[in-house]
Amino acid sequence: MAKGKLFVISGPSGVGKGTICKRVLDADSNMRFSVSMTTRVPREGEVEGVDYFFVGKDEFEELLREGQLLEYNQFVENYYGTPRRAVMNWLDEGHDVLLEIDYHGAFQVRDAYPAAILIFIAPPSIEALRERILNRGTETEEVLERRLTQAMDDMSHADDYDYLVVNDDIKTAVWQVQQIMRIEKGKED
Ligand code: 5GP
Repeated sequence: MAKGKLFVISGPSGVGKGTICKRVLDADSNMRFSVSMTTRVPREGEVEGVDYFFVGKDEFEELLREGQLLEYNQFVENYYGTPRRAVMNWLDEGHDVLLEIDYHGAFQVRDAYPAAILIFIAPPSIEALRERILNRGTETEEVLERRLTQAMDDMSHADDYDYLVVNDDIKTAVWQVQQIMRIEKGKED
């Protein structure tokens, strides 16, 4: 059986990548989503095994030492990483796999698995991103500014991805991501 394809989606917070991933997954029963592992505490409403696998710092560091993470990153005092085994098993079984991770992780995945296809989701402009984050209504001015600074940093790596999709209209962006996936699935490794 042919191996599946590994797709990585990144983009700044507020760009709509979660919605794009959800719609792509809903429309493709062969695609699997990698649930990340984190040491941060669950937020209200987050579900173990759905949003994240929540683990302690010691457990995370042990998995890291054992090589059980495909990639990882540390934000402030929390770790985030992708469990390797589930991803590799799915690919071997012929499933395509989707990772939603930041650029630090995306480039580690490319190093570890060069056939991975990296897709960056960008906002039409920084102004548009600011408005989207503001419309969520959950951010203080300080958090907003921090997110925008982070977004500029994220955006500076967009050129190193295989594909760039501008999310001006969500339907079009989902369609474009699906077209990229169709093209890539048609290629030989
Ligand atoms: P949050 O705490 O808001 O859920 O996530 C914080 C940051 O961690 C986000 O930028 C998110 O993209 C990133 N992140 C989530 N899971 C992973 C992962 O498995 N690996 C890496 N490298 N980053 C992740």
